[in-house]
Amino acid sequence: MPIKEEDREALKLRLLELRNSLVNDVDNINKHSNDEFESEVPDVNDEASRTYSRQVLLARGEQDRVILKRIDDALDALERGEYGTCVDCEEDIPLKRLISVPYVERCIDCMTKWEQSQAER
Ligand SMILES: [Zn+2]
Repeated sequence: MPIKEEDREALKLRLLELRNSLVNDVDNINKHSNDEFESEVPDVNDEASRTYSRQVLLARGEQDRVILKRIDDALDALERGEYGTCVDCEEDIPLKRLISVPYVERCIDCMTKWEQSQAER
């Protein structure tokens, strides 16, 4: 079932909004990991916590980039009119699910199976 025009527009706006905030976040992370962490003379007591927060930041940046890629794919699919189908079973993903997570790639059933297969690794 094709997505209604008004829903498509709303989803596109939401994707663009999310994209913007992620781009800002990645920018911030880049700034932090470049100056804040490297310009200071390392303090032995502080070193461990600094390494830790740096790892957290980098992990978050990594995750942001994965989501950014999915948002771009979703925007692409939206343009091509292929948006909203599950990548595994090719069924329509319920609109409610798309609105809460607009870059979602799988229906709930396939997502559950996918998560289980990831957990088994
Ligand atoms: Zn599916």
